[in-house]
Amino acid sequence: MENLTESTASTIESAKTSKKVPITVAYGDGIGPEIMSASLNVLKAAGARLEIDKIEIGEKKYLNGNSSGIESTSWDSLRRTRVFLKAPITTPQGGGYKSLNVTIRKVLGLYANIRPCVSYHPYITTKHPVMDVVIVRENEEDLYAGIEHQQTDEVVQCLKLISKPGTEKIIRYAFEYARAYNRKKVSCFTKDNIMKMTDGLFHKTFDRVGAEYPDIEKEHWIVDIGAAKLADTPEQFDVIVMPNLYGDILSDVAAQITGSVGLGGSANIGDGFAMFEAIHGSAPDIAGLNLANPSGLILASVQMLVHIGQSDVAEKIHNAWLRTIEEGIHTSDIYNPSTSKLLVGTKEFANAVIERLEQQPIMFRPVDYSASVADFNIKVTPVKPANKELVGVDIFLHYKERDPNKLAELISDLDANGMKLTMITNRGTKVWPDGFPETFCTDHWRCRFKNDMKNGVSYQSVVDLMQKIHHKKLDIIKTENLYLMDGVSMFSAGQGQ
Ligand code: NAD
Repeated sequence: MENLTESTASTIESAKTSKKVPITVAYGDGIGPEIMSASLNVLKAAGARLEIDKIEIGEKKYLNGNSSGIESTSWDSLRRTRVFLKAPITTPQGGGYKSLNVTIRKVLGLYANIRPCVSYHPYITTKHPVMDVVIVRENEEDLYAGIEHQQTDEVVQCLKLISKPGTEKIIRYAFEYARAYNRKKVSCFTKDNIMKMTDGLFHKTFDRVGAEYPDIEKEHWIVDIGAAKLADTPEQFDVIVMPNLYGDILSDVAAQITGSVGLGGSANIGDGFAMFEAIHGSAPDIAGLNLANPSGLILASVQMLVHIGQSDVAEKIHNAWLRTIEEGIHTSDIYNPSTSKLLVGTKEFANAVIERLEQQPIMFRPVDYSASVADFNIKVTPVKPANKELVGVDIFLHYKERDPNKLAELISDLDANGMKLTMITNRGTKVWPDGFPETFCTDHWRCRFKNDMKNGVSYQSVVDLMQKIHHKKLDIIKTENLYLMDGVSMFSAGQGQ
């Protein structure tokens, strides 16, 4: 198979030599076709060197019985061009339709989601006049692995998966981005005071990788207070890197407080593939009315042009767009009679940008992409296999009686080849031994069987133990092995243990 990174390099090379760069374009649903036409008009007028391959995705495909919303020929186009400019699509409600955005991100390995969130005070009304934050969101892992199960009548679970390579890639990306775009600080948000292993890995990797960037200031915030500070004083942030779920939520918050979600563009970057889109959805409430603000998709197109090595065109469009905004030519979502001069529709806004393509903004600082790097060298440290030793097992049971002591009576004397019942938890809280009678218990129990950790146990002992539990007519819903890795226990303690 062709080397992906080489392929990206050849895309950029062809851009430099004025050869047209093939890109795949989807017009999407709702306001998608209007804002895509407007954006492509701007790209064309600005002299973007593009060869466009149009595909159809989204609502029509879903409703024609394609549960993924995309046909195989469209994947062929994406494999060929490796660059995707996408308008928003509508995911029909109900019917088990899978989110096409999540599918595209995962299938193409688009691990980095980059969302610049900038306020355009005083021309666009915002409570935060000084705001220029870039959110770098991990795009593939975390709770978005989408692995969910209902295990008992009362309890449903979703697995949060955080990998070492996935984390290192996104954190390196954030630091490389900061360096390339002359940014001074990278902040990291996690909840590692609670999720010490998953978010803890993210935080530790941030500290380890960050040490390789002494020129960039670094800080870590627990996500709740970090989010509060971001919403209150966004001016104190520069680049923020986050795991998937926090990044998803907070990038919308950050975009909204700049003035409108209609302004935000976003890049989804992988090793050799990239997708660019507005951050908003298909806005069916205003579809077909020439009301939509095409700015999000225009600014996503600017990110795309930088990515494919056409920084000259990117700069021209971005500066013309800034000039249009500061002249008060606004679509209805950002129109404010006290600061705006002219209320325009989608097409007219794009035409106003086109008319200003040779102009620079006067009030805003013009953008300069001449030194911008399109492709970062994101290396991943190989993970050294640890010496892994099995020392016990957490056996999860569906048990309807609400009394942990009764459950303990049934299983505490089981002969488990050196493993003893050491703890029972309910939703993570220790309820046996010495639990509190006040603790509310569901029908979902974790029973920890562990040896003294001096010697490992065999997996056969775990199977034997499960057999014995099964013979007691208890309902095993899942197991998690307990490992020492290089002598260190790699499992969390019970709450209150
Ligand atoms: P939305 O972003 O489409 O709309 C939210 C509000 O913002 C609406 O009032 C809308 O009129 C307004 N708005 C959005 N974009 C605007 C623009 N460019 N100019 C002016 N106003 C704008 O969010 P929603 O209503 O929650 O979702 C509608 C559909 O979009 C759903 O089917 C959802 O699944 C889909 N969606 C798609 C994407 C995507 O394709 N990337 C992202 C989010 C939502």
